[in-house]
Amino acid sequence: GATDSEKRVLCLSAENESLKQSLSVTQGLLQQLTTIPSQSSTMLIKENENLRGRVQQLEISLQQRAEQLSQLESKSEQREWRRGEELRQREDRVRELELELNKERGKDPVVKYVTQTVEVESPATVRQLTKARQRNEVLSERLSSQNERCKQLEEQIRKSDEYSCNLQHKIAAYEREIGKLREELLKEIGHLEERKEEAVKAAASCSAEHFQNLQDQFFTLQKRLTALPPTLRSMKMDYASLRSQVRNFSEFYGAAINEAKKQISAAISEMSEANKDLLEKYRKEVALRRKLHEQLVELKGNIRVLCRVKPVLKEDQHEEGQSVVVTTDPNNESSLTVMNKGKNRSFELDKVFQPHATQEEVFQEIEPLVTSCIDGYHVCIFAYGQTGSGKTYTMEGSVENPGINQRALKHLFSEIEERKDMWSYTVTVSSVEIYNEVLRDLLSKDGDKLDIKINPDGTGQLHVPGLRVIEVRSFQHIKKILATARRNRVTFGTQMNQHSSRSHALLCITVQGTDLASGSKTTGKMNLVDLAGSERVWKSGAEGERLKEAQNINRSLLALGDVIQALRGRHTHIPFRNSRLTYLLQDSLGKGSKTVMVVQVSALERNLGETLCSLKFAQRVCKVELGPAARKIESGGGLCD
Ligand code: ADP
Ligand code: MG
Repeated sequence: GATDSEKRVLCLSAENESLKQSLSVTQGLLQQLTTIPSQSSTMLIKENENLRGRVQQLEISLQQRAEQLSQLESKSEQREWRRGEELRQREDRVRELELELNKERGKDPVVKYVTQTVEVESPATVRQLTKARQRNEVLSERLSSQNERCKQLEEQIRKSDEYSCNLQHKIAAYEREIGKLREELLKEIGHLEERKEEAVKAAASCSAEHFQNLQDQFFTLQKRLTALPPTLRSMKMDYASLRSQVRNFSEFYGAAINEAKKQISAAISEMSEANKDLLEKYRKEVALRRKLHEQLVELKGNIRVLCRVKPVLKEDQHEEGQSVVVTTDPNNESSLTVMNKGKNRSFELDKVFQPHATQEEVFQEIEPLVTSCIDGYHVCIFAYGQTGSGKTYTMEGSVENPGINQRALKHLFSEIEERKDMWSYTVTVSSVEIYNEVLRDLLSKDGDKLDIKINPDGTGQLHVPGLRVIEVRSFQHIKKILATARRNRVTFGTQMNQHSSRSHALLCITVQGTDLASGSKTTGKMNLVDLAGSERVWKSGAEGERLKEAQNINRSLLALGDVIQALRGRHTHIPFRNSRLTYLLQDSLGKGSKTVMVVQVSALERNLGETLCSLKFAQRVCKVELGPAARKIESGGGLCD
């Protein structure tokens, strides 16, 4: 077997040689191909290198296989030799043992059986006899042990025979395995050769194709290149002609453009002249409108007393005294009749709202005052009446139906928006409540007591140090501010109305305007006051602290009535200092300011007493004889007298 594999190795190395030759031929071919210029040659070189690498790999693997085979063969030889050696040793041993056995057999037996009977005559003889017998026993024991040993040796020989037989089987199996390995190796070599041939063929065909393609490309490029110069020439000509056209164009139209520019600037200057004219006219118109508006407000009176009758609500009908005692006259907007103990009593006021009058209708009466405020006037709007008569409803309103406060601010902002081309405005807001003659800031959480002081700037005007003043940028912003004020307002329950308000709530809006053209400034103020309930104290059953609180309320309302009466009567002394409320509003209630008092009344019989009181208060303010200057205007309106 060893010689066969050696032959095979020889054979393979011869084949290897031939492969190397074919490789060198291929390399020669590839070298010829590398003479082709440009990219394809580098590609081919790369492929060539790849192929060479692969062939080298194949050779290496082949050599490894041959080495493995020779190693296997030498191993099997060694094994075989060792087995032969062992076998020979065993055979020698067997032979030795056989010889020994034969020798033992050939020996005379040491003890012979004494068959004859010995006459024992002397004790010496007897002793000899016993000794001989003992010796005889020892010798027979030895014999049996020798026999035993002989058997063991025979057994050993048999085992070594079996062992050698097994070894022979194993040797045969190893030989078979070697044969298989050899076949596999041959197959593998065959495969490798096939692959090698395929690779060489593919490389050759591929490089030929590439070469062909490159040649084709080269030819087409050459053709295109020859076609290019004429096109280039025509394009150059086109470009030159276009350039000359552009030069002509700019020369030709430059003059025309200049002419047009002149015309346009002339037109613009003409237009701006016209615009100036228009603006001037517009200014005049605005001034006229303002004057007319002022006249209108004057005509209506600088202090007006309105009355709003609260409609009978469902919740009012559960209690007693629900018959209606207050009636309005649809044909006379300024009169109202109260039925008292079977007698009718009429009251004359500046205007009476029917119970079904809407929030918008009420605001329509207030709207001119809001406009005045933007124009730089000081304005006060009060809601007066007993608790539950609708003061807060008229001033604040509900979420879905807001009252004067929100509508006034909405109107303010829309008016500001309309005037924005000529005027710029800043709107600031503060809110205070007066409870028990103590002033508190409704826009700050801590609710510290505030004082009213004379402004140190020497204008003689009043101011409240520490009062929070917020600049308002939009209508949405003011909604948040109003909500804060509402939250902070102190409310107490009385017998008449569980949540009746026992304090005056003031919302103060300041509007500062700047005329964009002249730079002149105006400052308007608007005070929206939700007064505390006007009910008389004994009716609400108050005692102690409550009594003091109610007395304070009554006193301040009385003071307000006095001030308005004095103003309307054009008295020289106006008793502002009699209450915090009138003192605080001194600036806005004085000369040249405009005031509206909305007196709220209930139409129900059970509130008759308070309704009469409120109406008497209204009448007291309204009936005042007006001064001559005001009378002239007032009599033109024919309102309150
Ligand atoms: P006051 O502030 O004078 O104590 P409110 O404004 O709180 O009174 O009014 C008491 C109740 O009557 C409120 O529930 C209010 O909604 C309702 N109310 C008042 N006036 C009207 C009205 N004109 N239309 C509908 N409901 C009104
Ligand atoms: Mg109220």
